[in-house]
Amino acid sequence: MRVGPPTQVSVFFMRRFSFVLLSLLVTALSWAQPSGWGRYRVKVETDKDAQRLADSSIPLFSEQISLGDVDVIVGPDHLVEFWKLGLKNAYVGELPRPDAWKDRVTSALDDYQTTYLQYASMIGKYETWRAAYPSLVTRVRIGQGQPALANDIWSYRIYAGTGEPRHSVIIIGGIHAREWISPAVCMYLFRNLIEKINTDSSWALLMKRTALHVIPSLNPDGYRYTWSTNRMWRKNRRNNGGGSYGVDLNRNWPVAWGGGGSSGSTGSDTYRGPSAASEPETQALINHASTLLNVSAFIDFHSYGQYILWPWGYTSALCADDADHRRVGLMMQSLIQAPSGSFYTAGPITTTLYQASGNTVDYFYQTYRARSYTIELRDTGVNGFLLPEAQIYPTQIEAWAGFERFLRLAGMRRIP
Ligand SMILES: [Zn+2]
Repeated sequence: MRVGPPTQVSVFFMRRFSFVLLSLLVTALSWAQPSGWGRYRVKVETDKDAQRLADSSIPLFSEQISLGDVDVIVGPDHLVEFWKLGLKNAYVGELPRPDAWKDRVTSALDDYQTTYLQYASMIGKYETWRAAYPSLVTRVRIGQGQPALANDIWSYRIYAGTGEPRHSVIIIGGIHAREWISPAVCMYLFRNLIEKINTDSSWALLMKRTALHVIPSLNPDGYRYTWSTNRMWRKNRRNNGGGSYGVDLNRNWPVAWGGGGSSGSTGSDTYRGPSAASEPETQALINHASTLLNVSAFIDFHSYGQYILWPWGYTSALCADDADHRRVGLMMQSLIQAPSGSFYTAGPITTTLYQASGNTVDYFYQTYRARSYTIELRDTGVNGFLLPEAQIYPTQIEAWAGFERFLRLAGMRRIP
């Protein structure tokens, strides 16, 4: 056989082939490429150092500037200025480009997926969904925080059936005011479930038997306060007298109220209140839940730490349904980890995290024998309560992955 010059066609394919190889190489390189953004630990030794850092345009990674170690964020545009400051520093590690998460977002996102919303805007969002799906979404005003503050507490229901549902599932957001990712996740779970019911017949069927009740925020007084005055506020806004405010709503519930892991001191962040269920927020949910049929499952969303926790919180003893909670908890753990690798530690509250008497989960388990979880969302402590808005959407995605299975199981059986 005579070997001739390559034909036009084979040259075309060779060119095309090398072009594909080249683009694969370029893609691989861009993945491996450093972001150009780094976290540095600066030694602030004098007040003068602190002042110079404060006057610079270098963004802080730490919450504030104090003497000692302060972490800063140094991007390509800050390098010269950072170098000129001449402060002692050490490189801690690479940070993603601040806008890198946008690359991963393919479809247009709604504002509640990219920004934290104030209470009125949040309820406004639920209201647009209620208006758009009037046969699916209803709401009840279940109470109010402090009367003087006049913040209503709402419960939004998704139910596709007629007559009484066979199961009631309750999820609550924002019981701790500063944990902003919690109400943001509840919004996504709510909106996404509507979407599923409208596009997937198995969900439509499931939600003909099961009603989902979402409390967007059980602590609107506290939530508003984190926006207006103190971003790190945790409790509600009861006036305790003597200049002290707030009861920890997750220590106020009437199961082992007053036990370990709660405080009797009004100034404490875990102040349990003057008596069991003393708070209007606690009473609102207790009364609302008592009107629902077959409360079979409950989740209280918190941050941070990445935990999936179940009863008991008041004692290190295991609850009677520990095996069931563990089975479902570990299932959620692996589903939550799938989208972006976030690991959530799973176990009973007291032995996994700490003792917390008078909490919501113990109440819903003891009162209804509901499958009850506290889920501590992102992160593991890098940003803590101040989870950047860029992480709202990824946290919503992973929370849905676990919640989806939880809700399906809740609609199929009840703990015997
Ligand atoms: Zn919390």
